[in-house]
Formats: sequence, structure tokens, C-alpha cells
Amino acid sequence: MSRAWGYSTCVFPGLRVLKEGLTGNKGWKPHWRDPQPKSEYDVIIIGGGGHGLATAHYLASQHGITNVAVLEKGYIGGGNVGRNTTIVRANYGLPGNSEFYSHSLKLWEGLEEDLNYNVMHSQRGIINLFNSDGARDAAARRGNQMISQGDDAVLMDNAAVRKMIPYLNFDQTRFPIYGGLYHPRGGTARHDAVAWGFARAADQRGVDLIQQCEVTGIDIVDGKVCGVQTTRGPIRAKKIGMAAAGRSSQVAAMAGMRLPIESHVLQAFVTEGLKPCIDTVITYPMGHFYISQSDKGGLVFGGALDYYSSYAARGNLPMAEHVIENAMTLMPMITKARVLRSWGGIMDMSFDGSPIIDKTHIDGLYLNCGWCYGGFKATPGSGHVFAHLIATDRPHKAAAAHRLDRFRTGRGIMDEEATGSQHNLH
Ligand SMILES: Cc1cc2nc3c(=O)[nH]c(=O)nc-3n(C[C@H](O)[C@H](O)[C@H](O)COP(=O)(O)OP(=O)(O)OC[C@H]3O[C@@H](n4cnc5c(N)ncnc54)[C@H](O)[C@@H]3O)c2cc1C
Repeated sequence: MSRAWGYSTCVFPGLRVLKEGLTGNKGWKPHWRDPQPKSEYDVIIIGGGGHGLATAHYLASQHGITNVAVLEKGYIGGGNVGRNTTIVRANYGLPGNSEFYSHSLKLWEGLEEDLNYNVMHSQRGIINLFNSDGARDAAARRGNQMISQGDDAVLMDNAAVRKMIPYLNFDQTRFPIYGGLYHPRGGTARHDAVAWGFARAADQRGVDLIQQCEVTGIDIVDGKVCGVQTTRGPIRAKKIGMAAAGRSSQVAAMAGMRLPIESHVLQAFVTEGLKPCIDTVITYPMGHFYISQSDKGGLVFGGALDYYSSYAARGNLPMAEHVIENAMTLMPMITKARVLRSWGGIMDMSFDGSPIIDKTHIDGLYLNCGWCYGGFKATPGSGHVFAHLIATDRPHKAAAAHRLDRFRTGRGIMDEEATGSQHNLH
């Protein structure tokens, strides 16, 4: 991975922060330009979320392709990249996903240096609890898969988990805690800083980030893409990458494609700031509940998807009740915390719970979607392999399994029963 030698000065040096703090913060410059769209680019990326911005960064830094526009219908960081619960990990068990997320975590580990930007990547560890003998066996299998992939995993029994996180309700009648699979290199990162860091780095290499620019049509002539129609006029390009996350089906429909994707809302919640009390990420699969504590002190948590399809990026009370019930089952002390905010984001749910990173049947049109509720941790990995695909027309080896045709042929479906996305499988 090449380093950002070209701009090695620190973005926020301590003395400057102090000076700006004392003088009204008037001296900061925008992190990226606000260019007018050109009439033509070598590559257009649809979607200025984490994946679109990372793709643009790696196109420029790894492949020298800088005549690139990222077209974003809203503002940078307004999509799922700024709405997630910030968990970063490489504890996937299925072959295909295991390699990919391992690749992505390695990129995370060098990301701040690569972007010269503090994304507050914190490897505070993640523990997946289990509640039965069968679940312990599954955790052991997953741990072995992680270790054989070169990642880290520690199978912990009840006593070890009690020592590490004593405040859980271990002896609850329904799902007593048997132990946990600990992944020390997992953790969190500040989600909007990830968007800003990739945006700034791409912009500095010449990529145009065009906000408030919705793609409304994809132009195709003789089976080849030649440009897009947007709310800011037509723009030509011979290569177009779709990275629209929850709106992937709508964007692909502009090219006449019907994707194996359903869009569902996923909600998150944050409490008032508390003193440090949770120093790792905890997941509780029986409730599909997970929690961590942000650097500002808020407890950040979430649970299952809303069960119906929707493009409304907002939450609702039944799911709030369900998630908070799970929180209280796992850690009764949470009743004392007050929830400050909740929000929702639109998830691009694939039918085997795994992403699609592939060429399409249309020459020059590339697809990146199907991230389900796990695409934040994928951000550097997704951008890296998608840039490789767009630049070379060949899949990157870390994403070799994520072909689109698996849904048509049935070959290579990653959840082996193809029963739908199952968080405990992928
Ligand atoms: C509540 C919640 C919690 C989550 N927690 C985690 C977690 O802890 N860990 C994890 O790994 N993942 C998590 N995720 C999932 C993760 O956030 C997503 O999978 C990932 O962010 C999706 O990729 P993205 O960042 O590119 O998406 P986005 O930021 O949504 O980017 C897509 C962009 O495309 C733009 N767009 C759409 N249509 C058009 C158009 N026609 N023209 C131009 N632009 C368009 C959108 O405006 C949007 O900005 C969570 C998601 C949510 C909502």
C-alpha cells in the first residue's frame, strides 16, 4: 500500500487547534473543494458514502486514475456511513467473507497513516457472547476459521467473560451466558471521520466530489455505458461504479437491472454521555443486540432490522421497544441511562447476507452492494477491491466469491442453505 507522502503535514496540529479555539475557529479551510461537474470523466462513482469515497481514493492512490467524479445526491457522510454503530471487525466465518473482512481489517490498521487523518480507529476488542453448547461449538468453528485466516480469536468460558465484563446478567433464565468468542483486533472507528478522511484524501489527488447531484439515469448505447443523467446535467464516462448502498436497487433499475437486494431500515440508539463503563464491543446474538461506548461517553447500541422493506431512513417505536428489552435482559443496569437519540439507515440486504462486487452485463458498468448491516467495517476493503475491479476489469482475490451471478446460477451462494441473510452465519 502506498503512503500519503504527498501531504504528510498533520491536519490538526495541537498548537493550531489551540490557536483556532481561542480565535473563533475562523482559520480552517474546507477539507475538500466544491467543484462544478465537468462534462466528462474517466470514471464516475454513484454514491458518496464510505464505499464510493474509498473507491475513488484507491482508484487515485493505487491505480493512478484521478479523472474521477463521485456523485452524491445529498451530502458527504449523510448516508449509512454516518449512521452506523461504528463496529469494525474481521470475525466472519464463511469462506469468501472471511478473506474479504480480513483484508479490510488490515487496511483499517494502516488507514490513518494512509489518509493522514485521525479516524479514531480503536481496537478495543469485540466479544460475541454465546448461550448454549451448540452455540459454543459454532463459536469454536468460527474462531478456528478466523485464526486460519491469520486473524485473532479467543474462546472464553463463563468465568473468563465474568472477569472481563462482570456487569452482565449471566444467570438469566432464558439465555444464560455460557461464554464468548473474543476478537481483540475488533473495535470501533468514528464513522463520519472515515467519510471525511477518504473524501479529503481523494480530493487531494484530484477527484471531484460533487454533492447535491442525484443520478437520475444511466446512458447506455450498444450495451456500453457512456454517461449519466443528473440533477446537475448530463456527465459522460466510459466506466461507472454503482455504490449506492440502500438505494442500489433504484440506481441499478436505471440500467434496466433487477438486483437480488431488499432495502430495510436498521435503527441505532445512543444514550446521554456516561463515565467510561464499557471498554469493549459486546454482541448478544440471542437478542441480536450489540453495544459499545463512544469516546463522548454515550452508549451506542442497536439490534435487528425492521422486518419490512422501506426507503424511509428513520426509526419507529416497536423496534425501539424490542432493542431496549434486549438491552435490559443483557445488562439490567442500562435502565438508569437515558436514550438521547435514535435514527435509521437503509440497508441493502442481499439474500445470502454477503456483498456483491462485480462487473455487470453492461460494458463499463460495475456494481458494489449487498452490504447488509455490515458495510462500515468493509469500507476500506470494499473501496480497495472495487477500485481494483474498475481499473483492471478483474476481481480482486479478496473478493473472488462476491459474484453477481451466484443468485442466478445458485453456484457460490455464500449462506449454504440460501435461506436468506442470517447474521449468525456470515
Ligand atoms: C443503524 C446502523 C448501524 C450499522 N452498524 C454497523 C456497524 O456497526 N458495523 C458495520 O460494519 N456496518 C454497520 N452498518 C452498515 C453500514 O453503515 C453500511 O453497510 C455502509 O455504510 C454502506 O456503505 P456506504 O457507506 O457506501 O453507504 P452510504 O453512506 O449510504 O452511501 C451511499 C450513498 O449513495 C447516495 N445515493 C443513493 N442514490 C443516489 C443517486 N441516485 N445519485 C447519487 N447518489 C446517490 C446516498 O445518498 C448515499 O450517500 C450499520 C448501518 C446502520 C444504518
